[in-house]
Amino acid sequence: MHNNIEAIAREIRLCTRCRLSRSRRQAVPGEGSTRARIILIGEAPGREEDATGKPFVGRAGKLLTQVLNNASLTREEVFITSVIKCRPPENRRPRKREIRACLPYLRRQLAAINPRVVVLLGGVAGEAMLGIKKVGDVRGKPIERERIYMVTYHPAAVLRNINLLPYLSEDIRLAKELAYNET
Ligand code: SF4
Repeated sequence: MHNNIEAIAREIRLCTRCRLSRSRRQAVPGEGSTRARIILIGEAPGREEDATGKPFVGRAGKLLTQVLNNASLTREEVFITSVIKCRPPENRRPRKREIRACLPYLRRQLAAINPRVVVLLGGVAGEAMLGIKKVGDVRGKPIERERIYMVTYHPAAVLRNINLLPYLSEDIRLAKELAYNET
């Protein structure tokens, strides 16, 4: 099995493991550094991601880029992807069977990149990776497993409620600290 990021991306672009392959324009494998210390995982591609094949390029993506930049991080030095790689129609929540079908790609991306910190953006990513549904209960608290996980608010949720912005910003800053501090 090919395990490097480009080989995984090629498989994703051709994937027909779930029915989202029929409605997508293009799959969105993710992008960034293949040696990233931080990987950020969202929910699923939206309309603009589906149109461009790139992750987090809509309004939520612009906010995420801004929050990264404010923490002195660039998109190029992290890796950005999502739990499922194809857009659900009308941006509905991904179904369990779609997540089950798609998760092996994410796990392989994690194994290939081997980041220090995994930032789970929103409840769908939190639940898929750690079984955590309520972001508010766990945000700001690093969770140590085989690597460090942090669950925080999805940028789209922050756009709906701007009061959440300081939490997202704080969590990204902490993720950076954990990923880059040599101990
Ligand atoms: S969402 Fe994932 S499993 Fe479903 S078709 Fe796209 S790449 Fe394949």
